Amino acid sequence: SSITVSQLADKFGVKLIHLIRKMNQVGMPENHRRADYLLNSDEAGNLAIEFDLNPIIDEDKGFDIFPEPEGDLSECPLRPPVVTIMGHVDHGKTTLLDSLRHTSVAAGEAGGITQHIAAFSVPLSSLMKGSDVPKGATITFLDTPGHAAFTGMRARGAMVTDLIVLVVAADDGVMPQTKEVINLVHAAGDSVGLVVAINKCDKPMIDIERVKSNLGTEGILLEEDGGEIPSVRVSGLTGMGLDDLMETLSTLAEVRDLRARKQGKAEGYVLESHVDKGKGTITTVLVTRGTLKSGSIIVAGNTWAKVRQMTDSSGRSIRVATPGMPVTLTGWKDVPTAGDQMLEAPNEDRAKKCVANRLRDDERRAMAVDVQEVNARREEDRKLHDIEVEVKRQAKEDGSNVKEAVAAARRNAAAAAEVGRKELRIVIKGDVTGTVEAVVGSLKDIGNKEAGVKIVQTGVGNVCESDIDFAEATGAMVVGFNVECPRPMKSLAASGGVPVHCDSVIYRLIESVKTSVAALLPPKI
Ligand code: GDP
Repeated sequence: SSITVSQLADKFGVKLIHLIRKMNQVGMPENHRRADYLLNSDEAGNLAIEFDLNPIIDEDKGFDIFPEPEGDLSECPLRPPVVTIMGHVDHGKTTLLDSLRHTSVAAGEAGGITQHIAAFSVPLSSLMKGSDVPKGATITFLDTPGHAAFTGMRARGAMVTDLIVLVVAADDGVMPQTKEVINLVHAAGDSVGLVVAINKCDKPMIDIERVKSNLGTEGILLEEDGGEIPSVRVSGLTGMGLDDLMETLSTLAEVRDLRARKQGKAEGYVLESHVDKGKGTITTVLVTRGTLKSGSIIVAGNTWAKVRQMTDSSGRSIRVATPGMPVTLTGWKDVPTAGDQMLEAPNEDRAKKCVANRLRDDERRAMAVDVQEVNARREEDRKLHDIEVEVKRQAKEDGSNVKEAVAAARRNAAAAAEVGRKELRIVIKGDVTGTVEAVVGSLKDIGNKEAGVKIVQTGVGNVCESDIDFAEATGAMVVGFNVECPRPMKSLAASGGVPVHCDSVIYRLIESVKTSVAALLPPKI
């Protein structure tokens, strides 16, 4: 029997990254260290021991909560497809999503309140007319910032997105992020379907042939030209072609025969969470299997909830949520993180035990990291000692001054340590945990082997005094996405010499961080 790395992490109740780190520590080959690698039972058993877990994973021991076995999918009912809209900045993703969102709200009865939540359902009947439109069928659109929904959750081994709509502006063609999306889709292989939406088709003087030939260069050949990729021409602005888009998505979904069990315990993913002053923690959760009910006990990350208020994406209060439905819910004891898997627990007691266990595991791992650091420092000391011994021996042999030789060797070692990678420290603030994750994802890898980024703190909400204090103390800059730096905070930052950059355009933040990282390096002569 075998199990994927990400499934094993789920079984252990540990984060995927922790399991992968452990695999690294125990010297498992590089190519095993990915979410979808299949481990054999020996490997899984050995890793369990590394985590102080009984290799025979016994659910009754209550150390965690596990997904129910999949069962026979072909016997399960169809579920709505989950769609993510991606593409280059300014190509019209937000506009398109807003058009679709308004459609869904207009179709609901909630009175047109468009809350900005991380996902929403659009009934097919709201955009497609005709008798063959399946009654009650919907399409779920994810509206998570950046590529978080795609890359973040995929890194955790979960692909919640079934279909990707690649938006390409007809007046701009294929741009760098268009290519990024194409690469992601290629990397995902068959697990995700692709539709190209040529957008801004309301504009005059656009050259669609040029867009298509751009796409062809990237290996995307459209159906209308004998290729495999369906495409639609749309305008997010006028709503033109949205019916076509819905129909294409629904056909693709049909071909993929997307099913999920509706019976049994609920499973899903946290898409977004934030703290509301009055209501406490509110999350948007996508149900992927089973049925979530108000009153259900659920666990996500290091916290749990007894589901209290549950609303669907058009703001209606509901009591049950089935696969493919995004719902917002309250009742959390603490704030779960976007991307956390949600699992239903049989009762409160088990939920509490599971969370306690996960917290304990996290602590153990934090301690393990400390031990690693101590070991690394010891290793360095040992190397220094060896160098000194060697220098002394050499000096004696040459008859030169031993003390001087040792001092010179120490100076050299210190200089070598100085030469290490320079780091720009940053404090990241965002409006919701989902955006914070996306910003972290976009900034963390900026730089090269000489200079890079170190994220020292992250949080939700406007830039506040403690952010500035922390940044000042650690020599960091503050980066805010979709949040503000109130005037008093600006003057506090100015007096402490803390650079602050707030923006609602992620690419400007990326540019600003890149510039600051580059500034760390000595000027090239
Ligand atoms: P995003 O960065 O991909 O989310 O792009 P936005 O949705 O913010 O759109 C960028 C700009 O293009 C805005 O000024 C929109 O009004 C405009 N835009 C978006 N869709 C269309 C469209 O279909 N037609 C036209 N003419 N303009 C559009």
